[in-house]
Amino acid sequence: MIKVILFDLDGTLYSSADVQKKFAEAAYHALAKTKKIRIAQAQSLIEETRAQLKAKHGFAVPYTLTLVRFGVSVEEWHKANIDYFDPRDYISANGELRKMLLHLKKRCRLAILTNNNEVQAGRILQALRVEDLFDRVFTYNSFRTMKPNPQFFGKAAKAMAVAPGECLVVGDRYSVDLIPAQNLGMQIYEVRGPDDISKLVTALRSVA
Ligand SMILES: [Mg+2]
Repeated sequence: MIKVILFDLDGTLYSSADVQKKFAEAAYHALAKTKKIRIAQAQSLIEETRAQLKAKHGFAVPYTLTLVRFGVSVEEWHKANIDYFDPRDYISANGELRKMLLHLKKRCRLAILTNNNEVQAGRILQALRVEDLFDRVFTYNSFRTMKPNPQFFGKAAKAMAVAPGECLVVGDRYSVDLIPAQNLGMQIYEVRGPDDISKLVTALRSVA
C-alpha cells in the first residue's frame, strides 16, 4: 500500500524554459567566478563536459555534478544560483496542480525529493502556491546527497517512517529520479510535466 508519494520538483511539478535558462546561466557565472575565466568560456566548458558525461552515463548529468568536477563546491554553487535568480519571477500559481495534489493528499502523505537547494525549492513551491501541501521537503540540504544516489531515497523514506515498498516516486527523469527508487523497491511513476499528474490521480483511484 502506498503511504507516501515523493515528488521530484523541477520538470515534474512545473516546467519552465525561463527557469531552465536562468539555472544554466547561473552555472556559467559560478564557474566563471571560480576559475576567473569569461562567461562564454565557462559555458563551453560546462556544456562540453555535460555532453561527454551524457554520452558516458546515458543521461543528462545535473549541473551540480558537472560543477563539482570543476572544483566548485555544492555550497558555492547553491549560493550563486540563489543570488542569480528568483524562480518566483518566472513561475505562477497552478490551480489545477493544487487540486490534483489535494486529491492525492486525501490518501497519502506527500513530500518533495529534489536535488535543488532549500531556498530555491521553497521559492518554487511558494510560486506554485502548493507549499502547504507537503509534509516534508527533502532537498540537497537535507542529507547532503542527491539523486541518483539511492541513499537520498532511502533516507527520505526512513525520515517519513515508511518502508521503501510503501513509497511511490514521481519524476520526469527516468535514470535520475526513478531507476534508483525502483532498485530500492519503491513504486515509480514517470511524468513529462505537471499535466501528467492528473493521470496519476486516475491511476491511483482505480487501485483504491
Ligand atoms: Mg526533474
